[in-house]
Amino acid sequence: MEQTPTIAELAGIPDRPESQDLGAERQRRKIAVIGGYRILSRFGLDEGISGHITARDPERPHTFWTAPFGRHFSKVQPDELLHVDSDGTILSGRGPLNRAAFVIHSKVHEARPDVIGAVHAHGLQGKAFSSLHRLLSPITQDACAFYDDHSIYEEYHGVALDEEEGRRIAQALGANKAVILTNHGHLTVGTSVESAVWWYVSMERSMQAELAARAAGDPIALHDKIAAQTYEAVGTEKVGWFAYSTIIQKIAAEEPELFGV
Ligand SMILES: [Zn+2]
Repeated sequence: MEQTPTIAELAGIPDRPESQDLGAERQRRKIAVIGGYRILSRFGLDEGISGHITARDPERPHTFWTAPFGRHFSKVQPDELLHVDSDGTILSGRGPLNRAAFVIHSKVHEARPDVIGAVHAHGLQGKAFSSLHRLLSPITQDACAFYDDHSIYEEYHGVALDEEEGRRIAQALGANKAVILTNHGHLTVGTSVESAVWWYVSMERSMQAELAARAAGDPIALHDKIAAQTYEAVGTEKVGWFAYSTIIQKIAAEEPELFGV
């Protein structure tokens, strides 16, 4: 019997290339982390010392890769990336580890074995929206990527420096692709580094759209059924990866030696 095509197939979205060679897959994830930092920087999401992207290691899944603390998102290089284990020990790389990055991301990776990439930064819109203590409303097509797929962490206990805070954030994230950290910002995850990066950027922009709409009037949300249908078209991991692969083309053209163009 002929199978009904998925929305991704109907939309012509290609499959994400994956490698069975663990070394090649590790390198691919590290380059995706670097690309993610470049994308955050391009979108103005590099603010001071805040923000971190992590990628789970394919061979040692209880370890992950991230940029050294204090390295600018536009400058970090693959050989500097820190390889960190679940105790916070730096296995390789150059530079110090951001304690908050470790505390939050290690607990998220631990709680969600399906997660390969995780992203958190201090985007202006995410910060403003997080102070409202509310979920994103499906008022636009793009916001539907988060419909029934994000949560709120209602507490704020100060800068996340103890592991218990990381555990609470991971618990609040649950099985979702994103969590709004009240009075702080947002955090996104994906089954690829690429999708996690795109969800972060897309959520920031959806928050901006909702803040603008609420400032201007009383936005009308899509009906639940339509929002759920739209989620299937714009909220899948495949779409997240594909959106990243589109943005990275521009950055790759400027750094071809790094991104292999
Ligand atoms: Zn933060």
